[in-house]
Amino acid sequence: MENSLAALDTTTIDENLVGSISQILNEHGIPSVQWGNYLLTLYGVPSIVDSIDFIVPDSLIPNATHALQPTGLLACTEPSTCTAIAKNRASPIPKSHFHIDSEFTVSLYEQSTTLWVLPSLTQSTQSVDIISASDSRLPTKRPGRGHGRFRNTTFPVQIPTAHRLLESYVRSIAIARRGSYVGFFLDMITYVEEHVDGDGLLDVSGLEGRCREFYEGFIGFRKTYYCAS
Ligand SMILES: [Zn+2]
Repeated sequence: MENSLAALDTTTIDENLVGSISQILNEHGIPSVQWGNYLLTLYGVPSIVDSIDFIVPDSLIPNATHALQPTGLLACTEPSTCTAIAKNRASPIPKSHFHIDSEFTVSLYEQSTTLWVLPSLTQSTQSVDIISASDSRLPTKRPGRGHGRFRNTTFPVQIPTAHRLLESYVRSIAIARRGSYVGFFLDMITYVEEHVDGDGLLDVSGLEGRCREFYEGFIGFRKTYYCAS
């Protein structure tokens, strides 16, 4: 594998850019897992993407930020108006972020706020909870259904399995303070139900028991609600 270029090519937001970011982090000894709306598009969820997001171990956020600084990504120069860190933002605020332009960001999230139940991330690809972005079980690109799985040509990008992703949403609701972000996580669970589970890509039996109970109740409620309305 060639060394990553010093500067990222951000002219096109695509899997090559995602792979290059993953590669830069990897070359600095930083394990990473893709997150956010771009990740959802790999699972066939039609999502508006305004950021490329990665989870890294909490202690490596400073290293990851440092590693990405010389790559041509832009520092946030308007924090008072930046939507990525706005106090009224509908979704959780990243721990660190860069800009490709004023609207599109590259963001880093701590594992302790996202996939805290999983063992500490490592650079090993051996995990039942983490799969490759080019895994053949992921859907291919379909019109109106997101990006689909990566081709096998980028630097390896790791993503959580669908049931671990769903678990994170459910657990985030369970610990939400004063209801913060609950609406966002309920929306995410709805997307997973409609598009991931709907495509047969969700291993419901793999969900932790309480999370499975919540999810099945959620589905039952939605069915009841729509039948009644
Ligand atoms: Zn910003």
